[in-house]
Amino acid sequence: MNFLELFGRNLRRGPYTEPFPFAPAAPAPKRLRGRIVFDARICEGCLLCEKLCPSGAIRFARAPEGMTFDCWHPTCVFCGTCEFYCPTKAIHQTNDWSLAHLEAEKFALAEHGLIPSIVCAECGGKGLDTAPNVSKIRPPLSAEELAQLRARCPKCRNKFLRTRGKAS
Ligand code: SF4
Ligand code: SF4
Repeated sequence: MNFLELFGRNLRRGPYTEPFPFAPAAPAPKRLRGRIVFDARICEGCLLCEKLCPSGAIRFARAPEGMTFDCWHPTCVFCGTCEFYCPTKAIHQTNDWSLAHLEAEKFALAEHGLIPSIVCAECGGKGLDTAPNVSKIRPPLSAEELAQLRARCPKCRNKFLRTRGKAS
């Protein structure tokens, strides 16, 4: 097929590429590594994701209202390391690839989260409303015990687990 024939055929058939952004994009494959999302309610606050992120896209910081989480998508290389090592899947990747934005919108587009501060139900000290790390505790905690544990600071959580089930 010579060039003119090829040109005529392509004119008749139309473009082979997606017309995006002039039309909605085709659905992305389910396993595409895209935008990071964070769920503060199930985060244990272990900071593993921040330590392991190869591009330094994840930042936890102490603030008066608790511990803030930020993930900067322009810095993220979508490697999936954070999701792979997160013990609770509080951080995970979606297949959302549509991250183009104006410079002025960069802060709004970053993923933000907050683990709120708490006042310890036992000692009145400061703590964070992190999900308790109880995966290896046997027998497993009931929902009521989990709520009691979560309302405590780290020191009182340890004490709670040490004395759990023992008569007072
Ligand atoms: S998101 Fe996961 S890995 Fe990161 S601090 Fe929370 S529990 Fe740890
Ligand atoms: S996907 Fe990779 S680069 Fe992006 S935030 Fe997670 S660990 Fe960092």
